[in-house]
Amino acid sequence: YGAQQRQDSVNMTKTYVFSPKPPVALPVVGSAKFFPVRRVYCIGRNYASHAREMGGNPDREPPFFFMKPGDAVQCVAGGKLATHPYPPGTSDYHHELELVAALRKGGRDIAEADALSHVFGYAVGLDMTRRDRQAEAKKLQRPWEVGKSGDQSAIVGPVTPTSKAGGVLSAKLELTVNNDIRQQATTADMIWSLAEQIAVLSQYFTLAPGDLIMTGTPEGVAAVKQGDVMEGRIGDLQPIRVRVG
Ligand code: MN
Repeated sequence: YGAQQRQDSVNMTKTYVFSPKPPVALPVVGSAKFFPVRRVYCIGRNYASHAREMGGNPDREPPFFFMKPGDAVQCVAGGKLATHPYPPGTSDYHHELELVAALRKGGRDIAEADALSHVFGYAVGLDMTRRDRQAEAKKLQRPWEVGKSGDQSAIVGPVTPTSKAGGVLSAKLELTVNNDIRQQATTADMIWSLAEQIAVLSQYFTLAPGDLIMTGTPEGVAAVKQGDVMEGRIGDLQPIRVRVG
């Protein structure tokens, strides 16, 4: 009887002062099972074109990361029009279209060569950002949560298992707003590959099944307003369609 089993048996009999919420869970393409979300890791400035538009260095500087809470994921069905509430506290709310990797296995100090074997599947995501709040935070050298980690700030579509997502690491990404193309690039243009992101993240955090990685956005980020309809597509993944409500 190890410590973990003892802890498990204690947990089984625990009662809570209120009912804990189950995790946000994403539908899995071709399966009746859901993917339960733990954490959401995000990489900053991972396409040279976007680094330039943000006034940063487009070269290969060490990668940097931030997080969104797992319950900040707004899970949307593939292709169906969903409503995303315009958040309070911003007048410059930006879309960032990103490939999302969903981990089935975790660990520390994961080797780059082994990193992709930790991926369960992929989804289309939007890293929604209060750009005005993020810009203030940068200027004042304060943390980014208010800009980046708001309620429902990670819009994510259904997860396509890796076996059916071939080619997604060199696929076209495209975001339209009201049918106008706003962002267009290929995932092959990432500065830090997904395998490198997993390797570096796992030097700082113990990754775990259920973690999502938002792999960065290309150029063309811009504000949306209420009534706008965003459509995000990446390769053959299920697209997402979201009206800002
Ligand atoms: Mn982003």
